[in-house]
Amino acid sequence: MIVMKFGGTSVESAAAIERVASIVRDRVPRRPVVVVSAMGKTTNKLLAIAEAAVGGGRDQALDLTTELEDYHAREASLMVREEDLPELESILEIHFQELRELVRGLAVLGELTPRSVDAISSYGERLSSSIVTLAFRRHGIEAVHVDARQVLVTDARHTQAAPLFPETYRRMRETVAPLAASAVVVMGGFIGATETGVTTTLGRGGSDFSASIAGAGIGAEEIQIWTDVDGMLTCDPRIAPGGHRVKLISFAEAAELAYFGAKVLHPATVLPAVEKNIPVLILNSRRPEVEGTRIIPGAVPCSNAVKSIACKRNIALVNIVSTRMLMAYGFLKRIFEIFDRFETPVDMVATSEVSVSLTIDNLSRLDRIVAELEHFADVTVERDQAIVCLVGDNIRYTPGVSARVFRALGDVNVRMVSQGASLLNLSLVVNGADLRPAVEKLHAEFFAELDPAVFD
Ligand code: ASP
Ligand code: MG
Repeated sequence: MIVMKFGGTSVESAAAIERVASIVRDRVPRRPVVVVSAMGKTTNKLLAIAEAAVGGGRDQALDLTTELEDYHAREASLMVREEDLPELESILEIHFQELRELVRGLAVLGELTPRSVDAISSYGERLSSSIVTLAFRRHGIEAVHVDARQVLVTDARHTQAAPLFPETYRRMRETVAPLAASAVVVMGGFIGATETGVTTTLGRGGSDFSASIAGAGIGAEEIQIWTDVDGMLTCDPRIAPGGHRVKLISFAEAAELAYFGAKVLHPATVLPAVEKNIPVLILNSRRPEVEGTRIIPGAVPCSNAVKSIACKRNIALVNIVSTRMLMAYGFLKRIFEIFDRFETPVDMVATSEVSVSLTIDNLSRLDRIVAELEHFADVTVERDQAIVCLVGDNIRYTPGVSARVFRALGDVNVRMVSQGASLLNLSLVVNGADLRPAVEKLHAEFFAELDPAVFD
């Protein structure tokens, strides 16, 4: 058995879903369980509908719902067998009728709870998975739909629910695995339900996580994440072109990169797969012939010191200085307690005796955080900074990596440095404007020669 997950762009239209069908058909002998995202930008649209409904825009919300219905009906009708049309119609009717009821209810309540957010946003995956099941049949694939909410059991932390693994794995093993023996199983990603059957979601981008959970639950031999890029690259193509495909990477390295290249892989994705030692592949549904990136449990021997350079823009560097910190204890606790209270994750940290510098990428509560910090410290904030992160298992074994980094960077001003506790990353903060030259210089330094076993 394998799990094949297709993201929003891979199922955004009839044409895209036909590509998916032909990819899946070629792999039927491997007994695929297919996990799909909502079609295209559907999740965003559903959230916009919810916002409009509670914000006094009831009619607008209903109009948007009709738009969404037209979109699904138009694309789906292009790829469903004649004899399945009544089934498609009833699927659309049932879902959109419910959705309209929900919208009207929200408009009356005027309040959007996390539970309602989940109820609304679940429609994307519920629809896409049903539609993809019908589309597969037209392509001669025997397909069966499983409502993910019957098998993926979570806690009740709506919009960020955590899977209850033992129960989920039991259900996957007992229901999904036997079905997959004789047909291609199709389920929606992202969604689940509590033990009492209330719909939940795993958080934005959560379909990759669903795929990984499904793979772990059924004991898949491989989890394939089909997306719209060729795999992981040696550098972010949005920052600097000319990166090479990384063919093989370890789970630990991929997890470091996931935080940065969030577009390619949801960070939590790899965890269930790691625990069960199941390799994860990143593949391109537009170019299925490309072998992609294979993420494997163990270390990947490689003659290059660095596997990939990741980056993150639009971060803020917060410098906290206080002479009261000199020889005092409890200071860091006070600082982090504030970030904790404002639910703002801290990414990089560097400390000296009287100062702490740290970076955050969620700036929404920054002003309030600074106001609190200023009760006991001098605070400066520098926005528009960027993190550049070199990732590779070999960084810890290769002497002189930092020397090469600073030599390559030349006159680029480095604001902060940290070598992660995992020892497989080296992160730097630079000015946003310096990001591109920094990445280009580092890429030229570390990827002038490539280990052919690891890079394409
Ligand atoms: N449809 C959900 C989202 O847009 C989940 C996913 O695509 O992974 O966040
Ligand atoms: Mg995604």
